[in-house]
Formats: sequence, C-alpha cells, structure tokens
Amino acid sequence: MSDIADNLATVRAAIAMAAQAAGRRAEDVTLIAVSKGHGADDVRAAYAAGQREFGENYVQEWQEKAAALADLADIRWHFLGHLQRNKIRQVIGKVALLHSADDMAGIDEMQRAAWSQNVKQDVLLQINLADEAQKRGCGEDDAELFIDVLSRSPNLRLCGLMTLPPANEDPELTRAWFQRLRTLRDRLQQQLRGRPGVPASLWLSMGMSGDYPLAIAEGATHVRVGTAIFGARMPKIR
Ligand SMILES: *Cc1c(COP(=O)(O)O)cnc(C)c1O
Repeated sequence: MSDIADNLATVRAAIAMAAQAAGRRAEDVTLIAVSKGHGADDVRAAYAAGQREFGENYVQEWQEKAAALADLADIRWHFLGHLQRNKIRQVIGKVALLHSADDMAGIDEMQRAAWSQNVKQDVLLQINLADEAQKRGCGEDDAELFIDVLSRSPNLRLCGLMTLPPANEDPELTRAWFQRLRTLRDRLQQQLRGRPGVPASLWLSMGMSGDYPLAIAEGATHVRVGTAIFGARMPKIR
C-alpha cells in the first residue's frame, strides 16, 4: 500500500473507533481529505483508496488540481477557508459544499453567483467561536441573524455550521470549543425548528488532523483531515 492509502486506513479506523465510543455510526461522519499543498497525484492515490471527498483552500490551486483530475467524475470538492469576493463566482456551483459562508457581503455575492448560474449551492456558516481577530466567521451572537439571511437566500442551502477553534496544546480545551459549537447548533435547531430554509438537523464541520477523534466525540458530522493523510505540506508563501 502507498503511504497515503495506509494513512487513510488509519484515519478511517480512528473515525470508526471514535464514533463507536460515542454511540454514533461511522457512516454518519464524513471524512474530507484536505489536499491543499499536495499535488494531483496524491489526490489520485487517495481516490484509488476509495476516498471521494476532498478539501481545498485556494481557488487557483484547486482549479489546477480539479482540471488535472477531471476524469474522476464522482470526486466531490469542499471549499474551506475565506473566499475573496472576486473569486466567489469561480467556486459556486462547482463544489459539493462551501464551508465558509463567513460575512454578509460574501453571502450576498454567493447568492448572486448561484442565482446567475441557476444552481443551489450547499453552504456551512463559519462560526468564529473565540472572536479571534485573525479568523473569519460570524460570532456566536450573530449566528441567528446570519442563518436568517442564509435561509432567505433562495440559491443557497444552509446545511450546518463550521468552526476552526483556537489552536491548543491541551485537548480538553479543544474539546470545550467543539462542545460549544455543538451546544450552539442544538440551541439554534431548537429555536429555528420548522423555519423554512433551516434543516431539522444541522451538520457540524469540525476537527482536523490533531483532534478529529475528539470532534467526533462531540458530534462532528464532517472532519477535515489533511496532514494525517497526506503528510506535511509545503508552507504557503504567497
Ligand atoms: C488546512 C485545513 C485543514 C486540515 O488541517 P490538518 O491539520 O492538515 O489536518 C482543516 N480545515 C481547514 C479550514 C484548513 O484550512
């Protein structure tokens, strides 16, 4: 087996274990292989090992890779991280799930782009739980307002919440952030039950290489794992 196939098997086993320990089904957790910083051949190796969902952060890098992999008809791309407004049109309608609806102007542009292409784009609302200045996303207190706008955007389908918690050495602190997103999700689900455009159960995209088992213990429906599958990335220098 290639390293990537090996790593994928290890990650899948850890997902199954974490799900089982939490009384959840492994099928209820979607593994997104985050391939940013790695080439199309690495994506192909993961695909050959059965992986179908891949995550990318940079529009140009993703476009080049997607073009090189156009023969893989059932590959599903996830867009992670802030999307500059002038690039939104290049992504809408071409990814399975956009994890980073993170400001009102961007949501407005996403709706326009999806409308002009006559598509309905699945999106997650990114939540900046710790109100970190360097991170995107709406604060917890604004989540309801953002959901209201998303639910009234006819060409966007709100599917759930996403977060990237503060990096932490202490897993218990990380767990607390995951718990906090789940609690927010539960509260919103209850408050907004029956509201048109708001699904009865919202997804939770949380957990990366260092902490995805913890995220699953706390209810993650989507984990975004890069390094543990593909190895270290070249640092992004521009
Ligand atoms: C890069 C990235 C990941 C993957 O991180 P790893 O630590 O390599 O698993 C997950 N989520 C987001 C938003 C990212 O930008």
